[in-house]
Amino acid sequence: MIRALLARIQQKHRTVGFPKTEPTLPPDFLGRPELFPQRCSADCRRCIEVCPTSAVQKKDAVTLDMGRCLFCGQCARECPSGAIRFSRDYRLAASAKADLLLKGEEYKRAATLGKELKRLFGRSLKLRQVSAGGCNACEADTNVLTTVVFDLSRFGIQFVASPRHADGLLITGPVPENMKLALEKTYQAVPAPKLVIAVGSCAISGGPFAGHPEVHNGADGIVPVDLYIPGCPPHPITILDGLLRLLGRID
Ligand code: SF4
Ligand code: SF4
Repeated sequence: MIRALLARIQQKHRTVGFPKTEPTLPPDFLGRPELFPQRCSADCRRCIEVCPTSAVQKKDAVTLDMGRCLFCGQCARECPSGAIRFSRDYRLAASAKADLLLKGEEYKRAATLGKELKRLFGRSLKLRQVSAGGCNACEADTNVLTTVVFDLSRFGIQFVASPRHADGLLITGPVPENMKLALEKTYQAVPAPKLVIAVGSCAISGGPFAGHPEVHNGADGIVPVDLYIPGCPPHPITILDGLLRLLGRID
């Protein structure tokens, strides 16, 4: 017992200072993509050819859909003119799917809930996690938020076992046909008013599974979604930033 206590004292305070202090991200972290359409030559289509999810498109100018992007970085590496690069901006969450479509350097971040929902959930939000066919990476980066490092409960956000005790759902995975009914029933079991958060490229667009006949290409064809958090998987800080932004706990 004494040894355990000494070990705990030696470990000291382990919880990250975010959002009061900027997070420490890994050196190879790829955040919000930045597009420089003026550098893109008219006849080049290299980024479109290498993108595994057709997230990059080019009509008049290059666009990049963060809801489809796997953040592999291949488009930026292959671009011969530096028209795509990845910043270290981890603040990726958006309120509308259309806001995830990048056309230039502008990006509309997630908005805070309306006054009444903020009053209800701003200081206490219980979520039921629904893993709808994900590869377990989005689930792992969500689960890690409950550890001492991120300490999600200090913000009043907790995961609960039953949707009947929840204020909303946090959905991961592309929603295969065999999870559709389970997702619908889980959503119905959450008392109104309720929130839905889609985490990861799969839950937003189907991700690498998009277009497969057994997949519903994400959550919002089945249930209404209030917050989209892109990534494959999103960094835990990106998920935390999105949740706090939705609740109006950060600007
Ligand atoms: S980083 Fe995203 S947009 Fe670029 S190639 Fe990979 S999946 Fe496609
Ligand atoms: S978005 Fe990527 S990490 Fe998340 S479940 Fe899909 S494949 Fe896995």
